[in-house]
Formats: sequence, structure tokens, C-alpha cells
Amino acid sequence: STIAELDGRVVGCRACPRLVAWREEVAATKRAAFRDQDYWGRPVPGFGPPDASVAVVGLAPAAHGANRTGRMFTGDRSGDVLYAAMHAVGLASQPTASHVGDGLELRGVRITAPVKCAPPANKPTPAERDACRHWLVEEFALLRPRLRAVVVLGAFGWQALLPVLTAMWSVPTPRPRFGHGVEHHLAAVDGGPPLTLFGCYHVSQQNTFTGRLTQAMVEDVLRRAARVRPG
Ligand code: SF4
Repeated sequence: STIAELDGRVVGCRACPRLVAWREEVAATKRAAFRDQDYWGRPVPGFGPPDASVAVVGLAPAAHGANRTGRMFTGDRSGDVLYAAMHAVGLASQPTASHVGDGLELRGVRITAPVKCAPPANKPTPAERDACRHWLVEEFALLRPRLRAVVVLGAFGWQALLPVLTAMWSVPTPRPRFGHGVEHHLAAVDGGPPLTLFGCYHVSQQNTFTGRLTQAMVEDVLRRAARVRPG
């Protein structure tokens, strides 16, 4: 199995009835500003090269962002902050992401999410989070040979990711707690390369408009993660 093949299977998933209904309803009704566009309206696979050494883990696609464009963090204000920060630290070829085909390329980093369909009010249920976990397990297993660092955006992603990591790295008990700027070093369960886990507040408008999270704070965490790259 390859990442490209995995992405192809993800896109066809219909396992969560509530999310399937929501992503398709949003795609059919659209936001007025985007009424001339074709919405994606399907699961959004990870974005970035299969040999990435850094993974960025968000929450879920935004209804009128990635659920519209079909690419992670593309076409909404969360993505505006994330891609500007990624470009500033050398992880993205350009500071903006507007649509598939805009020329954006990621360098050594892959962006993904524990829930791959847009949820109502950006809130997946625990059952939906658990139903989607196997996709992330498969993605991390494929990334693992080169993967050295993960930046997790927000507490939801953190809670969702830890059970995914336990198959490949030893996660201590009690489990590491989420916080902005926290850094945890996890040894591999089988003597493979270790993984460094970073926490970062989510790039949501709720955090960035209030100043709780600035672009400089995102850059700082991304820079630290990029330094963990394999030699
Ligand atoms: Fe499938 Fe995940 Fe979407 Fe549920 S959230 S339908 S498991 S891709």
C-alpha cells in the first residue's frame, strides 16, 4: 500500500452517516460567496509528500474550506495562518492556499486530520473520531520510516492521535498532556526511530482573532519540529 493508494480509499469512505449527510448537504447548499464553485463534499485525505519527516495533525475539514476545495486547510482563515507560518519556516512553497492547482507544494511535511469529513459545528462525536481512527493508523504506519516529529493543532487532535501512536511508539502513562509549545519524546516500541510530539493551539479563528495564538507562535513550534528532521 502507498500513501496515494490510501488517499484514494479515504476519499470513498461513507462510514459515518451523520458526517456523510452533512458534508453533502453543505456541498449542495453552498455559501453564497462560493455559489459558482463545485464543492468537494467528500472525505479530505492528507496533503503532502509520502516521505515527510514532519506531520501536522489538525481536527477535521472545515465545511466551506477543505470540504469545498478538497485539500486540507485550503480556502479558509485557519489555512491562511497555517500556510503563512509554514512558508515562513520553509515548509511550504508559498504563503497562501486557495484551491487545488494553486501551485502550493509542501516540503518534508504532511498535513492530516483524525476526522476526515467536515462535522457540524466543527465537532465530531467520539464515535466518529473512533470510526475514522483506522485511516490515521494506516497513514502513520506508511509515514513512519521517515517520520520524526508531529505538530498537533489543538486538544481534540491530541486526544485522537495518542491512541494512534501507541502501536508504533511508547506513549507514557499518564498520557502526555496537551498544551501550546509542549514537547514530548517518544521511543519506538521496536527500536525504530523515536518521535517528537509537539502541541500547538489550533489555528482556528477563535484562537487567532482573539490573539491567543499568533502566527509567530505557530512558526516557533513548526521551526522546532522541522529541526527534528532526519539527517
Ligand atoms: Fe469515513 Fe472518517 Fe469520513 Fe467517517 S469521518 S465517513 S470514517 S472518512
